Amino acid sequence: MRKKQILEKVYNPKPVEEKWSRFWIEESLFVAEAPSSKKKFSMVLPPPNVTGSLHMGHALCFTLPDIIVRWRRMQGFNTLWLPGTDHASIAVHNVIEQSLAEKNLSREKLGREEFLKIAWDWKNKYGGIIIGQLKRLGASLDWTRERFTLDEGFSLAVRRVFVELYSQGLIYRDYYLVNRCPHCRTVLSDIEIEHREQKSKLYYIKYPLLDSKGHIIVATTRPETMLGDTAVAVHPEDERYLSLKGKKVSLPLTNRLIPIITDKRVEKEFGTGAVKVTPAHDPLDFELGKEHNLEQVIVIDGSGKMTEQAGEEFKGLDRFVCREKVVSRLKETGLLEKIEDYQHAIGHCYRCKTIIEPHLSWQWFVRMEPLAREAIRVVEEGEIEFIPPNWAKTYFEWMDKIHDWCISRQLWWGHRIPAWYCQECQEIIVAMDAPEKCKKCGRGNLVQDEDVLDTWFSSALWPFVTMGWPERTPDFEIFYPTDLMSTGFDIIFFWVARMIMMGLKFTGKIPFRHVFINGLVRDFRRRKMSKSEGNIIDPLEMMDKYGTDALRFTLAALAIPGMDLSVSEERMLGYRAFANKIWNASRFVLMNLEGEKAGLNEAELTLADRWIRSRLTRIIEEVNDALEKYKFYEAADKVYHFIWHEFCDWYIELVKPALKAGNKTSKAVLANILDEILRILHPFMPFISEEIWQHLPAAGKSLALASFPLAKADMKDEEAEERLKFLQDLIIEVRTIRAENKLPPRQKISLWLKGKDREERKLIDEQKVYIQTLANVREIRIWDSFPKAKKLLKGVVRSWEVAIPLEDIFNLDEEKLRLEKEISKITLDMERIEARLHNSDFIRLAPKKVVDEAKIRIKELRNRKTKTEESLAHILSLL
Ligand SMILES: [Zn+2]
Ligand SMILES: [Zn+2]
Repeated sequence: MRKKQILEKVYNPKPVEEKWSRFWIEESLFVAEAPSSKKKFSMVLPPPNVTGSLHMGHALCFTLPDIIVRWRRMQGFNTLWLPGTDHASIAVHNVIEQSLAEKNLSREKLGREEFLKIAWDWKNKYGGIIIGQLKRLGASLDWTRERFTLDEGFSLAVRRVFVELYSQGLIYRDYYLVNRCPHCRTVLSDIEIEHREQKSKLYYIKYPLLDSKGHIIVATTRPETMLGDTAVAVHPEDERYLSLKGKKVSLPLTNRLIPIITDKRVEKEFGTGAVKVTPAHDPLDFELGKEHNLEQVIVIDGSGKMTEQAGEEFKGLDRFVCREKVVSRLKETGLLEKIEDYQHAIGHCYRCKTIIEPHLSWQWFVRMEPLAREAIRVVEEGEIEFIPPNWAKTYFEWMDKIHDWCISRQLWWGHRIPAWYCQECQEIIVAMDAPEKCKKCGRGNLVQDEDVLDTWFSSALWPFVTMGWPERTPDFEIFYPTDLMSTGFDIIFFWVARMIMMGLKFTGKIPFRHVFINGLVRDFRRRKMSKSEGNIIDPLEMMDKYGTDALRFTLAALAIPGMDLSVSEERMLGYRAFANKIWNASRFVLMNLEGEKAGLNEAELTLADRWIRSRLTRIIEEVNDALEKYKFYEAADKVYHFIWHEFCDWYIELVKPALKAGNKTSKAVLANILDEILRILHPFMPFISEEIWQHLPAAGKSLALASFPLAKADMKDEEAEERLKFLQDLIIEVRTIRAENKLPPRQKISLWLKGKDREERKLIDEQKVYIQTLANVREIRIWDSFPKAKKLLKGVVRSWEVAIPLEDIFNLDEEKLRLEKEISKITLDMERIEARLHNSDFIRLAPKKVVDEAKIRIKELRNRKTKTEESLAHILSLL
């Protein structure tokens, strides 16, 4: 790229961002080296869903690791950040089936093959939206290594993992009660269920006793399932029911007889202490049913409709319609005791929010306990570290009571389960490829399992399959295990835990060293962002309005480990101002670098030069340290304050006299500091830093590949920092006195000082040019005692008395007269206008516009009068 020295007058992020994000990719700057002699740093991107579009959670989840990987790259690591997308079975099904429904079609009508064709077309057309957004965000990913969880390599790896786990008894098939979403028409794993507290009803139903008079009352929230009851259960020590043990009841609305059983798991406090048992439609009842050998009567099918077994009267009804009907029939027969309001947690599908239905069916499961053991150990022993560390506790809690994982889904978009069923002898064959004949009976009548695997099954393999596993590729050898996994707390179980288990099982190694858990992005009032609240902040809109750098910096500055982020547009606005500040300061520096060449001569360093070099050294140390610990907010805060306050507000002002005097060393320092500032800024604000850096005389190909500054111990200069601090305190005090007394900033003043410290006296004397420039002082006089009878504005700095003699600025008597005259003139003007406004002819005849203007004018004059009176009062107080 051709270098031009001068920056545009105003920073316009959009074209700059477009230019560099394209340049970085075209020039392959983020492509990892393999093989390489350099030390490596590697990460895999949490693959966003192909259906995804960038939201704030993504923006955070992609920005923070980008800061780390850019920083590591600049430190000289051979970095790999591998991108890709997830095929997201349910999400894609929802999108496509919705559009099919609009055309009065369904996947069943189309058939598997046709449906998959549509899904692939959709993926190829729209699946790349999030990829473009990632590039726009500046995420420095290696696009040559992009993967998809349904690509060929993945299919092979997934089959291999399935076959191996099956052959070791870690995958099994079972007839089991699972969660099913009637809307998505698939089963879900336990953690795909969202439990939400809801207002509901508790129905008390009388079950007549068989051999004696009376009845036992059971309480239930789901009366429609009573049609599938196969027992009533009570606690063995519940005195109310001791006599009923072993008796039978007749199940209302059916003509079935069911036993009363006892079990310790029945809660005596719930309802009446007697509960109905429906093994086919409730998880606890399922367990009870197995132990007590109860029949499993399925009354609700997979789409939420009542089955034949529910009885002639109810079959075909939707489960909730059936509930109403059961209740009204019970009322009619006098078997409904009462209905109470009841609040309890109800499980919903995490994708479509439909109430889930426990469903008895043949499914595939992963036996988790043996896999969890090793995964617990590596975290306990610190091989894998959670940041912040308290997340490890959450991880252990879940791992310690882990359930087997239901991995089959009644969907088509995904990895089809590599299991075949012999139609002749019922043998199950699990294999990498379709077998030609049954290995048991030798006949060829085989049918593959219709289901696909849970999407998380393939994502659990993400860190090593992306590196080429099961092949021992150079990438696998070099970059696996990865160094950092940065993700949200909501997928610790879905994803992080399973990656650890699968990584250990199939590679014998941990998949990553550090797990950084992001906070949640909330609005400025700390509320969760949601469509219904209307408080969603769209990152794409923020990039348009304030620039991508401002968005990134906002997220970094708010990322305190363990805390949620409270994001507001004000913050973005603030960091856009920061970008502008950097831009303007850089313009100043670049303009001063033109012409005569800079050259650094240690002997010619000014106090300000020594100070800024020392300060920068400390900041570099602190930023490196903060990033080592993933303290993004701390690093961002240091960078921000150093650039804005120390560099822009102080150094740029302090260096002006030296520049004026043609000091080549100060010029060189100014250039060096700007160069290093851009380097430490780059991971946070990659675009503006690259743009400015490319204008520096010493710029290379890209700032993204330049080295990150290291703190050089010999640059630290305690003495210079100490001395400059004193001068700063003095300047700040003079500025404060000026402001408090409303002295105009342009007004030059004399500065009187009184103090005994000889060192400081010498310092003031030697460095008076700084005080003169930054406090707008004409001359500085040091007194043993201030002359009497002078009007002085006074202050104190350390052991020094500070004074500004007023008479040097203006004659107080004259100023008093001037202000008095001003006030009487304003008063006259006001009277004249008020007289007109009180004249009814004027009000009636003058155009409305003229009357309005007169009113506004009166207001202005009134304000001016108040201000002038304040100034006069101040002068009078000094006289
Ligand atoms: Zn659903
Ligand atoms: Zn067979």
